Amino acid sequence: MDHLIAPEERAKTASKRIIGSLNGAQDGPLLILIAGLHGNESAGVAAVENVLAKIEQTSAPFSGKIFAIRANLSALKKNVRYIDEDMNRIWFPSIIDEIRSTPEHAIESSERLEIKQLLHILDQLKNETPYPTILADVHTFSAEGSMFTLPNVSQDEIELLSKIYAPMVLGIGESLRGTLLKYYHRKGLLSFGLEGGQHKNNLTEQNITALLMVLLQAAGCIDSDDYPEMDDYRAHLKQQTHRLPVKTELVYQHIIEEGDDFQMRPDYHNFQRIKEGEWLASDQNGKIVAQCDGYILMPLYQSQGNDGFFIIKEQ
Ligand SMILES: [Zn+2]
Repeated sequence: MDHLIAPEERAKTASKRIIGSLNGAQDGPLLILIAGLHGNESAGVAAVENVLAKIEQTSAPFSGKIFAIRANLSALKKNVRYIDEDMNRIWFPSIIDEIRSTPEHAIESSERLEIKQLLHILDQLKNETPYPTILADVHTFSAEGSMFTLPNVSQDEIELLSKIYAPMVLGIGESLRGTLLKYYHRKGLLSFGLEGGQHKNNLTEQNITALLMVLLQAAGCIDSDDYPEMDDYRAHLKQQTHRLPVKTELVYQHIIEEGDDFQMRPDYHNFQRIKEGEWLASDQNGKIVAQCDGYILMPLYQSQGNDGFFIIKEQ
């Protein structure tokens, strides 16, 4: 991939909450890009930086606005998923209200302080146009395997995401509790997750850059004709995902409880076919076998995280 931003330039801005913003000359959607909600997922931040640089360098007409944010600055700095608690599992209205009403100095959890600072920005963003507000939450994962998207069950989200060549997984957005996506979905935003690839895989940054550029085009913010590289982005995405089911849904989620000592068996990757009864993982209670046939998704190969794996089926 072409290097749009020099490494020293990236390092200089790494501690800033706002990655960048763009204000188009024409009306269009307000696109909020959230990256680094988990601090060990920096490829997503780099991809968002690429997209903003690409649009600025091209200086073609842009419709709408982009606002891009680094979510968990402290965890990004330490390259860990989180410091005190998972920042993408505490977006319950009761907790968010409590964060809003507590002064910063009285907040003890690093992630709750990050949310408070994030809310200062997100609360200011107003969309006074008839166009939608779209929130894309960019993530990466610990296993190898293909990228995918996580829409909520909303026709508008599904329709938009069906244009970006990544497999769509339905039901996980609903099953995960306390996510930022769910919080903003309930507020009426088109909100979805983009899972771009394995944390450290060389292709992950490129996958997410391509996904976001194609998303901007699908949302009507940019015109393909202004970006000759758009064909390459589409070709890349198609090539990475063409053998995979287009639309799947969640059938099983393995939740890890405190002290489980969960260990995934080695070498599982996203969209790998599994059979009912297959030995997938172990914990202190013994073997964990697949409850049904399907594809495995996001098998956990890192110490932090509460979801051991998901099983999905073609819709
Ligand atoms: Zn994540």
